Amino acid sequence: MAEAERFDLVVIGGGPAGYVAAIRAAQLGMKVACVEKRPTLGGTCLNVGCIPSKALLDSSEHYLMAREGLARHGVVVGDVRLDLATMMARKDKVVGDLTSGIASLFRKNKVTPVAGTARLVGPDAVAVTAEGGSGGAGERTLRAGRILLATGSEPAALPGVPFDGDRIVSSTEALALPEVPRHLIVIGAGVIGLELGSVWRRLGAEVSVVELLPALLGTLDGQVQRLAQRVLARQGLQFHLAMRVTGVERTAGAVRVTARPVTPEGAPGEPIAIEGDRLLVAVGRRPYTAGLGLAEVGVALDRHGRIPVDGDYRTGVPSIYAVGDVIAGPMLAHKAMDEGVAAVETMAGRHGHVNYAAIPWIVYTWPEIAWVGVGEEELKAQGRAYRVGSYPFQATPRAKCMGETDGLVKIIADAGTDRLLGVLVIGPRASDVIAEAALAFEFGASAEDLARSVHAHPTLSEAVKEAALGVDKRAIHL
Ligand code: NAD
Repeated sequence: MAEAERFDLVVIGGGPAGYVAAIRAAQLGMKVACVEKRPTLGGTCLNVGCIPSKALLDSSEHYLMAREGLARHGVVVGDVRLDLATMMARKDKVVGDLTSGIASLFRKNKVTPVAGTARLVGPDAVAVTAEGGSGGAGERTLRAGRILLATGSEPAALPGVPFDGDRIVSSTEALALPEVPRHLIVIGAGVIGLELGSVWRRLGAEVSVVELLPALLGTLDGQVQRLAQRVLARQGLQFHLAMRVTGVERTAGAVRVTARPVTPEGAPGEPIAIEGDRLLVAVGRRPYTAGLGLAEVGVALDRHGRIPVDGDYRTGVPSIYAVGDVIAGPMLAHKAMDEGVAAVETMAGRHGHVNYAAIPWIVYTWPEIAWVGVGEEELKAQGRAYRVGSYPFQATPRAKCMGETDGLVKIIADAGTDRLLGVLVIGPRASDVIAEAALAFEFGASAEDLARSVHAHPTLSEAVKEAALGVDKRAIHL
């Protein structure tokens, strides 16, 4: 075997956690290699996640706008047709531009990209197998003072219902269907189910969403959940909530899903059967650690298959660290990126930190849904006293001008201290509106702080100011 190549840090995984950590570590003076088995950098997020889904969400929004929305603005267009091939090619180009952008950031920062599949072979050694098989010419060994695991996650299948990549698909294939399904069945009313369900609904598919829980989007604030459900149902998404899937049958060209209501034993409830031509299973993701050699070097997994780490992102093996979807916490690209930076800054003797209480969540449906902090139900469960202010986009001048008046901003603050506990936005460009709330959380702001900040007029963010004023029952325009 050729002599091992030596680095200060070897990062395994070139997704948001890994590539960002690699760049920051190089900036801090470390000699860094980043091993990635996909042909391109960027991980799930750039290749088959956040970016292609947003490209399709934007394109499908334009299509729907051209078909139904522009006429309301007095813009008359002729025959609007869908060119799915061009839409997909544009998505692929966006992905290609961004993944090659990371490759050039690596060159700029002198990070060594290593193509192949990595396996731990010691606390300071990583074997990388490129095309050509293990142990032979295709294998090389990297040695490093530290190793950072950033291998991400993979779609979870429903027990007994394996993905077939054709009729029963995960988000990866749902981003590249060859034609608009006649009837797309989605299992899971979480982030992926709602985003990709929206894309195909806008492009003309009938979409049925089957969800185990009685509400969509898990533990989100109940009022916002209900509002989201109402608006999305109006767009044509058919929800079957509190339903347990009892069977999935695949026949030539069709998929049949049966489910029964989740009711107490003996309570009435009609089973349902839905027939479609594609099934998207979006019931969560699980950490991806297969073949990584963790057990061999003494890194144990928790019962969820995640890698346990301490506050410095160090595993039980002192030279091995882990960040992103393979550790606990929300599976969000921005959480993963910030962990990557925090881990390598700590390695460099600095003070890395991630404020887990200030992580924004965004669901890119239309209207978008975004939040920081917690909702009312969770605060009630904690027995915490709070005050709420909310303000509808219906009363927000910019939203009126846009013709996008669905939704509201809701602000929840501690009843005693006025400190922000939750900011929830459902409405146009909620993804951008939430940014000031995330910053406010980071600064430990009060609702009064938001209310006193000058918000430009006319902007969507005025709804934030008015909702913050509403916490103290002094909204001006309501
Ligand atoms: P999710 O956890 O958001 O939603 C999964 C849903 O499936 C839940 O509502 C759950 O109750 C439901 N479910 C689970 N088992 C079920 C069953 N047997 N029958 C019916 N419903 C069932 O997971 P996801 O939507 O698959 O997304 C995976 C991960 O990717 C999440 O962690 C998410 O945060 C992340 N992601 C984030 C974004 C974003 O931030 N915009 C976009 C896509 C994915």
